[in-house]
Amino acid sequence: MPRALSISWSEGVSDAEAQVLLETVGQTLNWLYFRHPSAFYDPPIVVRAYGNWVIPAIGEGYPYGGIQWYVEASFDQGLQRVIAPVYLELVRREPWQRMDPHFDLVLLSEDLTEFPAPLARLYTDHYALGASFPGTAAVISLWRLKQIADEELRRLALARLVRHHLGHVLAIPPFERREEVSRRGLEMHCTRRCVMRHAETVEHLMALTLEEAEMGWPFCPLCTQGLHSVIIRYDQEWN
Ligand SMILES: [Zn+2]
Ligand SMILES: [Zn+2]
Repeated sequence: MPRALSISWSEGVSDAEAQVLLETVGQTLNWLYFRHPSAFYDPPIVVRAYGNWVIPAIGEGYPYGGIQWYVEASFDQGLQRVIAPVYLELVRREPWQRMDPHFDLVLLSEDLTEFPAPLARLYTDHYALGASFPGTAAVISLWRLKQIADEELRRLALARLVRHHLGHVLAIPPFERREEVSRRGLEMHCTRRCVMRHAETVEHLMALTLEEAEMGWPFCPLCTQGLHSVIIRYDQEWN
């Protein structure tokens, strides 16, 4: 079986934003597959776009009944933010993950924090643009991108966030890498000129987006090598 990459989004994500998400993931994987002919014809990572899904047999408000259940179960009313560690833990422990281990990438219209709730309540100004459980799942928030007035820059910044978190989902940079990385909780970040650099704020994200826009392929050689290793690993598992 190839490894599936589930892609979902919450209510409030527009068709155009969902399209940026899907296109960015598709383009990134295809660029990598070009170097692996067997992978190009028989993709080892298969994108499954579930969108804003609901399982009618379970019901939207019930556990695992739909994407909105995950959002509501991890949303902190006081902070008006999704608590990413809670969200990611729900994904990690969901029945679908146990039945069929897969990658998961989610785009939310809600605001987000990567802090656990007690810490987030101490630092109420702190927010996250995205958060991940490397090697399995990542969640991205559109909330702060709304303050980017320029539509084209907003689209590029979203694509940058998607590429970065696709990298985290695929565990790039790898945990064992020692050179030019900085660790942040469970996440590894690249310190080269690379899309795997961490963006703390939306201003920082805009600056990195503009810088990387000139690069064409925005992953540095070390991170690209890591991505190719992931493709080879799942390609061999599959074939
Ligand atoms: Zn990151
Ligand atoms: Zn890198």
